[in-house]
Amino acid sequence: MQNPSAELVILGSASAIPTIDHENTHLLVIGKAESILIDCPNNPVVPLQKQGYDPLKVTHLILTHFHADHVAGSAPFLMSSWLMGRKQPLHIYGLDETLWRFERMMELFQWETWTGLYPIQIHRLAPQRMTLVFQSEQFEVHSSPVHHLIPNIGLRIYNRWSGESIAYSCDTEPCEEVVELSRGVKALIHEAVGEYLGHTSPQQAGEIAQRAGAKSLYLIHYPSEDGRIRDWEALARSCFGGPVGLAQDGLKIPF
Ligand SMILES: [Zn+2]
Repeated sequence: MQNPSAELVILGSASAIPTIDHENTHLLVIGKAESILIDCPNNPVVPLQKQGYDPLKVTHLILTHFHADHVAGSAPFLMSSWLMGRKQPLHIYGLDETLWRFERMMELFQWETWTGLYPIQIHRLAPQRMTLVFQSEQFEVHSSPVHHLIPNIGLRIYNRWSGESIAYSCDTEPCEEVVELSRGVKALIHEAVGEYLGHTSPQQAGEIAQRAGAKSLYLIHYPSEDGRIRDWEALARSCFGGPVGLAQDGLKIPF
C-alpha cells in the first residue's frame, strides 16, 4: 500500500454569515478511491478548484441537515457536474427529513429534464446513534443524530489503513452523541457558534473534546465576523488539555 493516509480539507469554516476569508462551513475528505463532500452551502466547484481538487472526483455527498448554509449549493453543484460531463454515479446521504426537502428542491429545478444526467443514488440514513453511512476498502463512516434546531447528524470517519479517525459535530448543542462519535479521534471538528439554542460555545466544545479523549480539537462554524473569536481558542483550551485550533479555509488535516 503506497499511502495509508487520508486528508480532511476545510473548504469553509464560517457560521451562517460568510466573510471574505471564510466560506460557510463545508468539508472534503479525500482518500485513495473516494472523495467525500460534507455539505454544500454554495456551488463548491470554485472552492474545490482553488484547493487543487477536481470537482468531478467527488464520489459521495453527505447532507447533514436542511439549513440553507449547509445545502443550498447542492443544486448548482449537481448541475455544473452534469454540464462538465460527469458520468460516474454520485452517492448522496442524509436523514429522510433532509433528503425529502432536497428532492423537492431538485424538482423545483426540474432535474428530471437534465438529459443524460449521471446516476444519482440517494441513501436515507436511520436517525439512530452510530448508523453506518457507508464503508469502503479504506473508510468506515458513521452518523449519529445531534441536537440542533432541526434533524441533523454528526459524523465519524475511520480510515482503516491508518487506524485514525476524525469526527465532525455539525451544528449542535453539546451532546452525548458527539462524545460517542469522537472517542479517541485524531481530530474533533466541533462547531463553536456560541452559547445559543442549538449551538455550542468554545468552552463547551472543549469539554466535549476532553470527555471524548480526542487528541486535538478544531473549532469551526464560528462567527468569523465577530471580534469575540479572538478569545475562542483560549476559551476552548480552558476546558481541554490537548491542542486547539480555529479551523481556517484551506486547512488540511491528514489522518
Ligand atoms: Zn444549522
